[in-house]
Parts: sequence; structure tokens; C-alpha cells
Amino acid sequence: MSDSNSYDVVIIGSGGAGLTLALKLADHAKIAVLSKVTLSEGSTFYAQGGISAVLDEQDSLDSHINDTLDAGVGLCNIDIVRLTVLYGKRSINWLREQGVRFTTEQSPNGEKQLHLNREGGHSHRRIVHATDATGKAVSLSLINRAKQHANIVLLENHNVINLITANKLGLPGNAVLGAYILDTHNNVVKSIAARIVVLATGGASKVYLYSTNPHISTGDGIALAWRAGCRISNMEFMQFHPTCLYHPNARSFLISEAVRGEGAKLILPDGSSFMHRYDARAELAPRDIVARAIDNEMKTHGVDCVYLDISHKPADFIRQHFPTIYQQCLDLGIDITKQPIPVVPAAHYTCGGVLTDSYARTDIPGLYAVGEVACTGLHGANRMASNSLLECLVFAERAAQDILRKLPSLSREKITIPAWDESQVIDSDEEVVVSHNWDELRRFMWDYVGIVRTDKRLSRAMRRLELLKEEIAEYYNHFRVTSDLLELRSLVIVAELIVRCAQQRKESRGLHYTQDYPKLDTTRPPQNTVLMPKNFNPAQAINTDVV
Ligand SMILES: Cc1cc2nc3c(=O)[nH]c(=O)nc-3n(C[C@H](O)[C@H](O)[C@H](O)COP(=O)(O)OP(=O)(O)OC[C@H]3O[C@@H](n4cnc5c(N)ncnc54)[C@H](O)[C@@H]3O)c2cc1C
Repeated sequence: MSDSNSYDVVIIGSGGAGLTLALKLADHAKIAVLSKVTLSEGSTFYAQGGISAVLDEQDSLDSHINDTLDAGVGLCNIDIVRLTVLYGKRSINWLREQGVRFTTEQSPNGEKQLHLNREGGHSHRRIVHATDATGKAVSLSLINRAKQHANIVLLENHNVINLITANKLGLPGNAVLGAYILDTHNNVVKSIAARIVVLATGGASKVYLYSTNPHISTGDGIALAWRAGCRISNMEFMQFHPTCLYHPNARSFLISEAVRGEGAKLILPDGSSFMHRYDARAELAPRDIVARAIDNEMKTHGVDCVYLDISHKPADFIRQHFPTIYQQCLDLGIDITKQPIPVVPAAHYTCGGVLTDSYARTDIPGLYAVGEVACTGLHGANRMASNSLLECLVFAERAAQDILRKLPSLSREKITIPAWDESQVIDSDEEVVVSHNWDELRRFMWDYVGIVRTDKRLSRAMRRLELLKEEIAEYYNHFRVTSDLLELRSLVIVAELIVRCAQQRKESRGLHYTQDYPKLDTTRPPQNTVLMPKNFNPAQAINTDVV
């Protein structure tokens, strides 16, 4: 494809998933990578802990597989788990080839080797990291490589409005053909044609009032796929990170799980520890257990936060292992070598998403989903720490394998995509509606659909969502699109999908905890929650069993 708005592959998202895929395809195809704001602004950049992979002699693939299955409470797809774990070492090697410099140490026989951290849920040290700023190292290296590749066009400040499918253009079949995009820098809507479109848009944690995620995490890819006719799965499993820094001047700053891995204790304001009362693994219990314990302690004692204390470790050790956390806290007047860190839970990771198969294919031909936007079956009911960056790398490679196989047979015929029609809309004079609805949505999602749920609260949330949906649809039909409006439109869809999935699950499992059904349902085999959009075409359904 040759003209400037036409590409072999359009990848929506410049995080770990999107850029890995772009680099794996670029020697063979013309690629555009879109980014809603700047290239680095995504969860990948902020990842601290690291990437899980079996590299230690004492460790084994089976152990990593079993730990992942344990965390997922019966809902992981074992073939997908096996595949992901198997691709671990090569994924790390590939990142090193791209220039990522992970933290190393001297082995007992004097050789340089990767230093491995341990995190909650992992029974071995297997977290490859670049001190406590792994995501930054990964993100900057991949951006650097992508900028150097002649076949990759990087488009910042491009917010996708809608996917264009054959169906929507009245053509036969329902393959994806491109997308409408708001160029927020120049305030124009463009259309882009593509033979393949990939959603690598990250998660949806911004649907909650408190979140560790950057602003871009508004679930746009999930909403785009749902509207286009893809099935969405397991949205009730939203992960809350137990330890987000609680400080009026710090938004969304995470205190990595690795701090607990190195022996930090969770304590109440009076200095007493509590995690041993909830789980034998205490601070190293899986995140959902730790988050619920903190939530419960905060409610029981009426406190605004609890504390994470690592000050018993030598100050040099703390500064060396956690330089970013140390500095960020120090800037706020908290010296973590001497004082405990105030922390609260916050929405962190979207385990569910666009249903994909083992090659990251979705229900729409030509549309792939890679990274946090996807539901591959790896995480089941709960993601184990540091498995998500690994998932981005592995499924980017799998998607690349499939796309490279398919591209030669895909049509090069130029498709005329109609221009975006703005004849019926005007500039908004009521931006307050958007900002008000943003706040309202995120607040009731936090209060009613948060760490602990009930049927009543879910119904309340659904009633409010119905009203918001109407208001937003009306607004969308009358006013010129803005980024805030597009994000709100995504958030309201994602919120509805979370509530619908949560309502269907009549048990507590993994990250989904409801007071009405506080136990696992052991009367039948564990079930994934799969939602079908009205325009879902069963004849196009992917097979998620096949690896
Ligand atoms: C604070 C924090 C710490 C974490 N620590 C770890 C860790 O140690 N280990 C681990 O494995 N995982 C960790 N995670 C999770 C992990 O970072 C993410 O799951 C992973 O980086 C997601 O990568 P991604 O490429 O799917 O999405 P992101 O990195 O979030 O990238 C999404 C991209 O999509 C673009 N985009 C979104 N919507 C649109 C749109 N409408 N139009 C155009 N572009 C769009 C964005 O601009 C962005 O470029 C952490 C997450 C956070 C928030």
C-alpha cells in the first residue's frame, strides 16, 4: 500500500505490546503505530517490578506454570499459560537485543548474570528487572528502535474514534478495513486504511476513581472491539494493587510488590502488622488477598490508609534496590529508610478484555488484540505479578507470526473509506457535561463495583450507567468529538461490561469478591464470563481452545 493514509498494519498503541509487534513486523510490512498522547505515555512506561521468566537453575517452567494457575483460581487456559511461560526466556533475550539493560549481579563463579527479584505468588525468584523502573527501560528502548526503522510511522496524539469494518461500509464479510482517528494536535478527523488492525491500547483501570494507571487507560480498545462485534470476556476481574502511595501530592504512584518481596511489612497506624491474620503467606499473598485485607482493615479501623514499612532493611540496600520509590517518597517528605510509607489499594490491571486466541486474533477477521486489552486466558481470575509484560511480549510475537503468514494473501486492492461526516454536529458549549459524567462514573464504579461487591450495589451502578449512556450518546450525536468525550464513551461501555460480568458471576473467585456469594462455586466446573455484542457473528468466532 502506498498512499500516506494506507498501511499494511495499523497498530493502535505504543506500549510494550504495540511496539514489540511493530518491530517484529517492520522488516516485512509498512506499519503505523498510533498513540493517544505521547509515545511513552502508557502503563508500560510506569511498570516498576519487572518481567517474569524462568532463568534460575532452581526454578522450572512447571513451577511458573503452577504459580500462574494457582493465582488464576481455575480460570486460566492451561495451554495458553504453558505457551506464555515457554516463551519467557526468548522474550527477555529479545528485549536485551533491543538494548534494554536489565539489572545484573555477579554469579557465585564470578560471571555476570541477570538479577532476579521475587514477587507475590511466585514460588521462586524469577522477576527480571531494571532496578525499580523496568517499564521505563523497556519503553524507551523500544521507542528508540521503532524511531530508527524506516517502515514504522509513529503517530502521536492520534485518538482512534471507531474501527471501520466491511460491514459498516455495506461490503461483504466483516473484515476490519481501517479506523477513523482524531488527530488531537490539529483537531481533524482522519481515516486510515489497513490490511490488518491491531488493538494494543492497554487496560481500563481509569474507570475507577483511584488507579495506578496513566490517563490513557480508559479501555478504548475494549470498547472499539465491542462496538465492532467482538466478544469480551472476564471483565469482572479487575485487579486492585494493594499499595498505591497515599499522599495528596502524588497521583497514581505505585509502591512495587518487590518492596514486599524484599521483606516490607504492612502495618496499621499503631505499628501492628495484620497480614498474618488473613493468609499464611502474609505480605507475599496474592494481590487480591492483600488488597481485600487492607480494605477491610481500613474500614474496620476507620483509617484513610495503612503503612508499608521497609525501614528495618539497611538504608543502602533500600536506596540501591528501590531508587525511584526512594526518591519519589523523599520528594514528598517521606524517607523510606526511616519511615513507613502510607498506602491504599487502587485499580491496577484489567484481567479481562477482548477475547483472543493463541495468535491474538479476535472475532473480527484482520483485527488482533495484544497486551492488556486482550483476554488470552493467561490470567484467569487473577493476574500474577509481572506476568503481564511477559504476555505483551509473547502475544506480540504470536500475532507477528500469524500476520506475516497471512499478509501475502490479503488483498492489496485500495478501499475507499468515506470521509468522516461532521455536517450534523457543532462545537460543544457544554464541556461540563463530559467532565461531570467522568467524575460521577469513576466515583460510583469505585463505591459500587470496587474491591468488595454486592448484588444491590451492582444494580445501583447499572441504573446509573443506563442514564449516563443515554446522555453520552446524545452528546456524541450533537457535538464535534473531543478526546475527553471519546474516552468517556469508552469508559461507560467498559463500566457496563464490568458490571454485566460481575452480575453474571454468582460466586467469589479470584479478584471478584461479592458479599452475596462469598465462596467459590464448587458445584460445577469454573466458567469464564463471555459477553456477546448484538452484532456478534457466530460464524466468525475464534476458537480459543487451539494453540
Ligand atoms: C504503575 C504500574 C506498574 C506496573 N508494573 C508491572 C510490572 O512490574 N510487571 C508487569 O508485568 N506489569 C506491570 N504492570 C502492568 C503492565 O505495565 C501493563 O499491563 C502493560 O504495560 C500493558 O502494556 P500495553 O502495551 O498493553 O498497554 P500500555 O503500555 O498501557 O499502552 C497502551 C497504548 O495504547 C494507546 N492508546 C490507548 N487508547 C488509544 C486510542 N483510543 N487511540 C490511540 N491510541 C490509544 C496509548 O496511547 C498507549 O500508547 C504495571 C502497571 C502499572 C500501571
